[in-house]
Amino acid sequence: MFRFGIIGAGWYGCHIASSFKALGFDVKVFDRKESVLALASGNNQFRLHQGFHYARSYRTRVQSRDGYMRFIERYPTLSDPITHNLYAVPNQDSLIDFLTYRLIMTSSGIEFSEVKAEQHGLTNCSGVLLTDERVMRTDKARELFNLRLKDNLQLATTIENVDERDGKVFLNGEAFDYVIDATWGSLLPIDHPVFYEPTLLLYYRSKIGSYALTMVDGNLCSIYPTEAADIFTLSSVTHTPLGKYNTMAAARHYLSQVDASVIDSKRKLMEEQVKRYMPEFCEKFEYIAPQLSVKTKIIGATDDRSCYVSKQGRKFVVMSGKIDTIFYASESILSMIEAENEIQVSRI
Ligand SMILES: Cc1cc2nc3c(=O)[nH]c(=O)nc-3n(C[C@H](O)[C@H](O)[C@H](O)COP(=O)(O)OP(=O)(O)OC[C@H]3O[C@@H](n4cnc5c(N)ncnc54)[C@H](O)[C@@H]3O)c2cc1C
Repeated sequence: MFRFGIIGAGWYGCHIASSFKALGFDVKVFDRKESVLALASGNNQFRLHQGFHYARSYRTRVQSRDGYMRFIERYPTLSDPITHNLYAVPNQDSLIDFLTYRLIMTSSGIEFSEVKAEQHGLTNCSGVLLTDERVMRTDKARELFNLRLKDNLQLATTIENVDERDGKVFLNGEAFDYVIDATWGSLLPIDHPVFYEPTLLLYYRSKIGSYALTMVDGNLCSIYPTEAADIFTLSSVTHTPLGKYNTMAAARHYLSQVDASVIDSKRKLMEEQVKRYMPEFCEKFEYIAPQLSVKTKIIGATDDRSCYVSKQGRKFVVMSGKIDTIFYASESILSMIEAENEIQVSRI
């Protein structure tokens, strides 16, 4: 019976805590914010990835495909289907051609069918796939974790001090057998070279129905639904990033200073970009508001968004991939604990 101190009540901290609690471990989750899923976990594109976004990273595709299946099994009420979820390859602006893209997705073992671009009002595309990817329900996830972890959450508490000694780890002076840093690189150093990217997505209202459009592969854009039937996000690989910082604190400081002129100029660029493929975008989508967030990214050109876990003494540091890789994180930590203690924890 180990006692775990988990720092961060995002998707990672909440999932790991509720999994470990279900296995019989004593868990306590700290977050500096006053609610769960307050930062990146509540401010992202809410895509339950299947792998279609990552033609250039095999590890990311495989983790997404497996994570997608597990997510639906484990959290059946926390995602919704999307009737028309399209992945389109532009004929000039993609890093790979449509046939190569389709071959990569076929070899990844994920299912799709092909549809005609014109039928969906798309232009400048050489091929379009219709996929089963879903959208996550953040509102329901908050409800679920608040319920499952109601006796285990300590919110509005910043962990300032992590001190390992005498076979224990102390968080602000409180003793734990193991500590898990699920802060996405805000606290303990991550075992990979990373940078921190402030991001801007744009929220729009539309009556288009259950619809998503993702242009692949490379510096392109996407429209994705949210948990509200008429609200969508617009994201752009080119225009969503607002800079590169060496620490989470520096990236968050930058975000606190972003003003309306930055948002307006980015909005213009993002709308111009999407109109190249969906000329009627501005007739179909009405702008509402910006969404500002921070992404921690591994440095490299392969678009690696997979999850890594490192162990430093009795402390685990999670480098989150996407939300579908929560299972990889919890399993990795459990395996390392089993190996260290020569025990076998029976899984549920
Ligand atoms: C613009 C954008 C779009 C994205 N789109 C998608 C997508 O469509 N699909 C997808 O799967 N993923 C997406 N992601 C990635 C996804 O958001 C992350 O993988 C996920 O939210 C990471 O969760 P986390 O729990 O590791 O981190 P977070 O959600 O950031 O949680 C970390 C928590 O740690 C807390 N914390 C930090 N320091 C301390 C401290 N010292 N003491 C106490 N608490 C502390 C913070 O308050 C925070 O609540 C996107 C990310 C961004 C930014």
